[in-house]
Amino acid sequence: MATYSDAVLDEIRSRVDIVDIVSQFVGLRKAGASWKGLCPFHAEKTPSFMVNPARGIFHCFGCGVGGDAFGFLMRQDRLSFPEAVRALARRGAVELPEERARGGESDREDLYRAMHLAETFYAENLWRAGGERARQYLETRGVDPTVAKRFGLGYAPDGWDSLLSFMRGQNIPDDLLEKAGLVVPRQTGGGFYDRFRGRLLFAIRDLQGRVVAFGGRAFGDEQPKYLNSPETPLYTKGQTLYAIDLARDAIRAKDRALLVEGYLDCLMAHQHGFPETVATLGTAFTPAQLALLRRYCGEVVTFFDADAAGQKAAERAEELLEPSRDSVAWAVNRSGSFADAGALRLRVALLPAGHDPDTLLRSEGAGAFEECIGRSRSLLSYALDRALTDTRDMSGARGRATAFARIAMILSKVSNSEEALALSREAAVKLGVDAAQLWIEAQRLGGALRRPAAGPPPAASAPGVPLAEKELLLLLLHVPASRAALLQIVDEADVAHPPLRALLAALRRRPDAAAEALMSDLPGDAERGMLAALLLDERDWSDAETVETVVTQFSQRFDLKRRLRRIREVSRAIAEGQAAGDVSLPGLQAELQALQREGQQARELTLGGSSEPRSQARPSGPRGVHTNG
Ligand SMILES: [Zn+2]
Repeated sequence: MATYSDAVLDEIRSRVDIVDIVSQFVGLRKAGASWKGLCPFHAEKTPSFMVNPARGIFHCFGCGVGGDAFGFLMRQDRLSFPEAVRALARRGAVELPEERARGGESDREDLYRAMHLAETFYAENLWRAGGERARQYLETRGVDPTVAKRFGLGYAPDGWDSLLSFMRGQNIPDDLLEKAGLVVPRQTGGGFYDRFRGRLLFAIRDLQGRVVAFGGRAFGDEQPKYLNSPETPLYTKGQTLYAIDLARDAIRAKDRALLVEGYLDCLMAHQHGFPETVATLGTAFTPAQLALLRRYCGEVVTFFDADAAGQKAAERAEELLEPSRDSVAWAVNRSGSFADAGALRLRVALLPAGHDPDTLLRSEGAGAFEECIGRSRSLLSYALDRALTDTRDMSGARGRATAFARIAMILSKVSNSEEALALSREAAVKLGVDAAQLWIEAQRLGGALRRPAAGPPPAASAPGVPLAEKELLLLLLHVPASRAALLQIVDEADVAHPPLRALLAALRRRPDAAAEALMSDLPGDAERGMLAALLLDERDWSDAETVETVVTQFSQRFDLKRRLRRIREVSRAIAEGQAAGDVSLPGLQAELQALQREGQQARELTLGGSSEPRSQARPSGPRGVHTNG
């Protein structure tokens, strides 16, 4: 898996503090030698996510994920391993040997470079002669030039090949530009032309602040009004949020995110003192976007215009009350209570009719916007009220039945049962139905909806991890002095649990390695999670005498196991030989007898089930252990 040498990886590990890195994303509290917090990778209410700075590892006892600083960044920011290595190398000021990684990797690097050059080109065009039209547009929209510069706004000049010829000057091949979504192939005659022409450009960045896409806004009535980059290897729609790189720190500090739709809504909010604002890139928000925000805060406020379009958006939001496929559950709490620490509280702020955040901020100022946020309600209570309002238009039993079903469905998605109970009482009164009936229906739907999620890798404490095997690996990892003796007598066949066996194999390949350094040798998440779990064991291994006793016990146990295995092999060989008609196997039989003499325990364990010795081997039963010749 590693494309960098162990020495380089070890150096990076030693230079970065994993507590530092993790606490950018997770609130951590000291707990013994480790730090503890709410797992960013699964929804939980009590912290089971541990970080150990001495070992440089993390592990979640809830969902089983674990690893080192590289593994954390890969998971958190969706980086490839080389990307995580480079990110941490920069952080730790470790110089990397200029190894060119695999082709795919260098491709991505080239794409990032092309996007970066394009951003520079567009930004320069905004502020130099020729960009007057765009600058004037920003002025009429009230965008402060310093904000425009911080967001990296740009201008794509009119003309078909402004960017193309600039890129040719930089030796960037045309097909790379096409891959990056910056140019479009001509219908006839071959060649390409610029995708963005005569538009104001917004740079969309990833969490590392690298440009992955552009959004272009027309100045006049040109269609479409907004033109975005297509999906590329760097950019997947609905997975990222505009300005997340700029807003991340503020979102974490305020424990809330403001989620708006448009680029200018977002810019204006930042300009008016709401730096925790991100935009969905013009579409309704997706579960992936909410899961992204869940990493940094506990509350998201989204804005709906009090008109029909806003109502549509609210309906769509109801669907999102379901846990996403990333298994991040969010509950919407009417009271806005902080008791539900694992859930993302999703609130709805209603804008005055005809306003979006941009126009409200420009015409009424930050105070009005803040008031609007202050009046926000939980998405759930909003959705319930809307379901009730709709009933008024539906007369008769049929309308009530529809409303009943819809409200029961909404209630079934509330994770906090106390809240759900209170809400169903309230809704029942308003609907004129029996509260108990509504509650029962919601429970029934809830049971049907809550499908078991795809299982995360088992934690080290999970059933199915043989205790003796786990103890052995604990000893090997925590007491390097035990390795020489134990690795000689322990066989991979002695360890049945696959992740533990992979760990043993990794130790055998590098018996001198520090335990945590084995992280990058392991093939998968299950193995890395297991290693992290074992490294977090806080047992005191400094008592040499105890350690010696344990090593001796293990030596004896595995010596015994090895003999038992040999007894089984020899027994089988004898039985098979006899089945084939060969009745003279004196060597094997002598060995078997010797083995059996060696241990009372061995005899009990292997032969206890076949204590009736037979004088004749049964041809059909090679598995029957034959004990006397
Ligand atoms: Zn977890």
